[in-house]
Amino acid sequence: MSGSGAPRPFPGDVAPDAADAEFWAACRDGRYLVMRCGTCGHAVWPAGACPRHGAAPMAWTDASGRGALVTWTVVHQRYATSFAGAPPNVALVELDEGPLVHATVLGAERLEIGMRLEVAFEEIAPDVVLPVFRPARDRPRGSLSG
Ligand SMILES: [Zn+2]
Repeated sequence: MSGSGAPRPFPGDVAPDAADAEFWAACRDGRYLVMRCGTCGHAVWPAGACPRHGAAPMAWTDASGRGALVTWTVVHQRYATSFAGAPPNVALVELDEGPLVHATVLGAERLEIGMRLEVAFEEIAPDVVLPVFRPARDRPRGSLSG
């Protein structure tokens, strides 16, 4: 999926490094990963150690790419001229696997706490793909969001 035109600046805090290079490579392939403990399977984000088993081996594994909206804010201050269009939101999403992640929710007429979301991938520059979320397609119809 591609952005709306003008290239956006690469967010400095998501620049790939050795710890999460596999995650970003998977995003380029349209796959969403979480890091899991090799001992108990607990999922963590960002890449790190298991809170229960510390130094246990950790590995990236495919995740459902689904979760629920915990909260969000709308960023009205434009920090870069290349951000065009409606003010973006920054959402906190609780993945079905457990970790909380920050992302943008696109394609929702309105956001509601607890709404079901699914991951999508937005190419913001050549070979730079960010995971974003959108309303889950199988969510119940007839809710307050119309
Ligand atoms: Zn563990």
